[in-house]
Amino acid sequence: MLPAEQEKRDLLVAADRRSLWHPFADLAKWETEDPPVILSGEGVWLTDMSGHRMLDGTASLWVNLLGHRRPELDRALALQAGLIAHSTFLGATHDGAVLLGEKLLSLAPSGLSRVFYSDNGSTAVEIAMKLSYLASRHRRKKEGRSPPSRFFSLERGYHGDTLGAVGAGGIERFHAVFGPLVRPSVTAPAPDCFRCPMGLFRQDCGLACASVAVRLMEEHRDEIAAVILEPLLQAAGGMIVWPEGYLSRIAGAAKDLGLFLIADEVATGFGRTGTLFACEQEGVRPDFLLAGKALTGGYLPLAATLVTEEIFEAVREDPGVFYHGHSYTANPLACRVALAAMEVLEREPLLSAIPEKRAKMLEEWAPLTTHPNVANIRSLGLVAAFDLVGPEGRPLTDFSVMGRIRDLARREGLLIRPLGPTLYLIPPLSTTLSEGTLMARILRKATEEGLGTAIG
Ligand SMILES: *Cc1c(COP(=O)(O)O)cnc(C)c1O
Repeated sequence: MLPAEQEKRDLLVAADRRSLWHPFADLAKWETEDPPVILSGEGVWLTDMSGHRMLDGTASLWVNLLGHRRPELDRALALQAGLIAHSTFLGATHDGAVLLGEKLLSLAPSGLSRVFYSDNGSTAVEIAMKLSYLASRHRRKKEGRSPPSRFFSLERGYHGDTLGAVGAGGIERFHAVFGPLVRPSVTAPAPDCFRCPMGLFRQDCGLACASVAVRLMEEHRDEIAAVILEPLLQAAGGMIVWPEGYLSRIAGAAKDLGLFLIADEVATGFGRTGTLFACEQEGVRPDFLLAGKALTGGYLPLAATLVTEEIFEAVREDPGVFYHGHSYTANPLACRVALAAMEVLEREPLLSAIPEKRAKMLEEWAPLTTHPNVANIRSLGLVAAFDLVGPEGRPLTDFSVMGRIRDLARREGLLIRPLGPTLYLIPPLSTTLSEGTLMARILRKATEEGLGTAIG
């Protein structure tokens, strides 16, 4: 980089430190960090202002699906910008919203028949919470029962950062401090069979966790409007991959107990877990399906809450209006880009290519299986993760190694974001076999080097 360019970059970083506030940043540490200043992207590669190229190992925090500067998406965006960028969706409509809505309904599990747009995952959650409350209240009124007053969710669950979503959140570090502000859910342990909450082995752990959850659902049936969960993968909670059968067991119990099921597929949707939606893998048909993050291929903020006709009919009868909306509901630029992304997803054999890519990534990690500080290597779809552990597999206490590994990886050309003791890759689905392999190799080498000799 030329000295002038370097100076420009350093001034930017200094101004950022002085004037901005980054989400989920450790404020004391941030002052000493040297963040990449991203200038451009192409495919799964990012380039910073110094001209350093890095693989986008988190798909820009789980949103990017088809790579950066995807020609079909760029074109859709430019075409719409040439017509209109935004007009209100209150009392008016537009073709992008309609076409995308119909496309989403055709892709989603059967039974869903209406789409309510918003602009991020958290608001898609809020909408589902409010609507499930209204529909549940309506159902119970007919049965002569009193309305529900809360939700059922899982420990270590994550549904966004608005207060309703925080109430359904179960990540101690993020959510505990806001406890007094929210209505807490009825919660059951996450089925994390690596550290089984019941102290059992994998298959038994799944069954035992499901039994505990179902017992709690039965016990609190009268209070609960809906069960909200992240099907198959609790991503923010630590990339927890569920044991087979857990999802369908919970979904079945919810149905039997007359509780609505909200499948928060904000992170898992659009192929991340190997199928278009995670619910498909266990034949689950939720009452609500939430889409966000990758919906626009990772280009623009847009989310959707898909609901069944029963929900729509209930609210139509009472109160007749859903008093909820956002200034940018169904933004036309975002809808058009999302539609283009869905078309690429339908046209290209991205899902069928996942198993081979995943196998190659895991092959790169084979040497880690015997490393004394590495445990719980797991994968689902194109998501792959492992944990760092202390001596004799005890939980990690000193997390400074995580930052060290992140910095080493970055230097070698891979941008990642460790999650507690977990290191993971969520490559865009468009990642090639060799790019995926390279990501896994850089992460392994950075881990080995960062750990040095076994940590105590
Ligand atoms: C990221 C996420 C959300 C929140 O989405 P935002 O767009 O960040 O508000 C909700 N649910 C799940 C499962 C997520 O991973």
